[in-house]
Formats: sequence, structure tokens, C-alpha cells
Amino acid sequence: MLDATIAGSLPKPAWLATPKALWAPWRLEGAALEEGRRDAVRLALQDQEEAGIDIVTDGEQTRRHFVWGFVEGLEGVDFSKMITIGIRADRYKADVPTVTAPLTRRGPIHSAEARFLRSQTRRRVKFTLPGPMTIADTIHDAYYGSRARIGMALAALINEEARELAALGVDVIQLDEPAFNVYMDEVREWGIEALNRAVDGLPCKTAVHICYGYGIKANTDWKKTLGGEWRQYELTFPLLAGSRIGGVSLECAGSRVPMSLIGLLGDKDVLVGAVDVASDRVETPEEVATVLREAMKHVKPSQIFPCTNCGMVPLDRELARAKLRALGAGAALVRRDLS
Ligand code: ZN
Repeated sequence: MLDATIAGSLPKPAWLATPKALWAPWRLEGAALEEGRRDAVRLALQDQEEAGIDIVTDGEQTRRHFVWGFVEGLEGVDFSKMITIGIRADRYKADVPTVTAPLTRRGPIHSAEARFLRSQTRRRVKFTLPGPMTIADTIHDAYYGSRARIGMALAALINEEARELAALGVDVIQLDEPAFNVYMDEVREWGIEALNRAVDGLPCKTAVHICYGYGIKANTDWKKTLGGEWRQYELTFPLLAGSRIGGVSLECAGSRVPMSLIGLLGDKDVLVGAVDVASDRVETPEEVATVLREAMKHVKPSQIFPCTNCGMVPLDRELARAKLRALGAGAALVRRDLS
């Protein structure tokens, strides 16, 4: 009960990629890059295990950005045609590649990484993939002509990939869908259907991560415009409660989301974000425990998985380690209450 996990990413070592940056360029190449990425995964696992995290990830050490890892493995995307667009409803600018032809997978995209991750730890492992709507929002479409159409095409490809990962022993597949907090109408119109398509027939546990974004300035500025209570989840949770997805990873620590909203998730697993990734202050275990106890007023303890609010890739590495330890220790405090 109360098995701790993380949203997904951890900071990369400075010898592998530029610290504290999104889309950070690699600092190694060729075989050295390959070896460096694997070494970084080993360190990410060690940090999580030492902190008492029960369901671990590879810290997304092998991908430049949480969306690109998957998209780089697709046919039909032209990375020589990079275009600057406003993403997440123009909250910030990003250079994105162009879809010029039907999307297909060239072959397994993350199998080698999943196999390596599985071989390096005895703990349960979670593998993250970007969700259909978030990819559709982080790419320039010059082929499909509608976000719903490209989204459903992506969902089918994510499903192919996820089935392979599950067969390799991945325990949890998580789809990252920060776009679900931005385009609430689209969530209703096609987002849930795409999510259902993406997890169709998977034998493992599944989850979707919906947050208010990394702790970067564009996001913290946006949060200031959202008012005293953030109620975006109120629209999406009832829809998710009726979906095929197994669990929902969300932002609770230091946010203005009323905790009572998690009661709208029905019997889904709730990955309660109890560590704030937008603050340089390290939570105390007691603070983490307070968030978890608050969550327990609205859903059963058996549904709760203590987690981070979002990925920690843009954070200082030592800070991220300290936050991991606070998460593990806070979860242990609440487990003690329950036993
Ligand atoms: Zn996030």
C-alpha cells in the first residue's frame, strides 16, 4: 500500500546533457553517448531505490525531451522541417518537426531501453510515453488536417509500442498528457477516445499524467492567471473515471487544485503529486505526508500512489535527489500510520 513512484523524468548528469534545460543537447556522441545514457539510467535507478521509491523509471535519461523520444522513431515526421509554433495554447514557443506523410513506426522504438531498465532493477518499473494529444500539440501537421485525426493515428502507434513494452516486463505504462489541462473541449471530443485506443488490450497497469507543466517560468506565469482555485481537473476527471485508463498522475503539492476533486476519479489509481517540482525548497517528509493524508480523505488508501507533481528534468540534480528522499520518507510515515 502507498507504493511511491515518480512522474517520470529526473535531471541528467552534466556530463551527459546541459543541466537545468529542456531539449538540452547531448554532450556525448556515438558509442560514448549510448554508454553514457545507460550509465545515467543506472544512477537514476540507484537514486530512486535509495530514496525508497517502489515503482521506478529510467528517469527518461535516454531521451532529449519527453515527446521527442517517441516521435524520433516515427516515419512520416520530417526533422529537417523544423517550425516554431506556440504550444499548450501558445503558452510557450517550441521548434517542432513537420508531419509530411502517414505516420508509422520504423520498428520498436523503446524496446532496447525497456529491456535494459528491466535488467537493472528488481523493483516494478514504469515506462512513460507521450500521450496522443500532447504529441499532436508538439508537432506541425501538414498531412492529417485535423488534431483529432492525427491524434487517433498517434494513439494506434502508441498502442503498438506499449504492447511491446508490456511484453518485455514493464509493469506500468504511463501516457503523459499535460495537454489535457489546456484543451478541455478536445479532451471530451477525442482525447479520451485516443487514450482508450492507446491502452487498448494492454496486460499491464496503465496511467495518464496530467499536470500544470514543468517548473519553468512560462508555466509558473500561466499558473498565476488561473485564479484562486484550479478546477481544470473537474472537467476531465469524470471523463477519465469512465475511461479504460488505470490511474491518473496529478499535481497536488503546492498547487491550487482542490483535493476534493480526486473524488471524481471513481476507483482509478491516484498518483498523488506530493512533491512540488516548481520550487527549489525541499519538502519535509511530514509535508509530503500531509498531502497524502489529505488525499486519503477523498479516495481509499489502496488507490493512492505517492508521486512527484511532474518530471524533475529541469531541476538541480542534488535538489531532485533530496526531493526523492522526502517523497520516500513521507510515504513511509503514512504507511506507518496505516499499519
Ligand atoms: Zn508533468
